[in-house]
Amino acid sequence: MTAPEQADLRQRLLDALDADAMRPRAERRGLVNAMLDVVSDDLTARDVDTARLREAHATMALQAGHYERRWESTVVEAQRQARRADELEQRAVDSAWNTMRLGEEITRLRKKLAAAETENTRLHALLAEGLPIAEAAQEASTVLGTVLALHRPVQRGAMTICDACSPRRGDGPSRYVLVGWPCPTADAINAATLPTT
Ligand SMILES: [Zn+2]
Repeated sequence: MTAPEQADLRQRLLDALDADAMRPRAERRGLVNAMLDVVSDDLTARDVDTARLREAHATMALQAGHYERRWESTVVEAQRQARRADELEQRAVDSAWNTMRLGEEITRLRKKLAAAETENTRLHALLAEGLPIAEAAQEASTVLGTVLALHRPVQRGAMTICDACSPRRGDGPSRYVLVGWPCPTADAINAATLPTT
């Protein structure tokens, strides 16, 4: 911006030096004043530029301060969000851990329940099997007792005979052989029932 003025000033100075000896005093004064005016204009222009630059610098400094504060608040916010994220992550980890422990506990209880149900089913089956057997055993014992009661010992003189197996006087065809007691039937029933009674 100032280059043409400087070139002009230099040229005018050179011209003035060339013509110095021949020019009158008033003309030389006018030339010097003109040179001073140019310098003064140049300084004024520079002052204006400097003022403009100062203004621009102040504006930029303001903006920089603004951006710096925004940056600081952004950093603070980012840190706050990072802490929040950490908290949430920790909570998620805790929650997952509790869920896993709860799941393990449920699995353990389910296993216990399944085992208890299996045992219950087994006991019911045993009871269902055992009841008829016990009833049948009771019935058999009763029947055997009745049969054994028929094959009771009876004394005939010096001999003990079986009441059911030996003939009785007046009963159908007479028998010639008295069967001693215990007879084979009584023996068999006693042998069968002795271990349990
Ligand atoms: Zn008998």
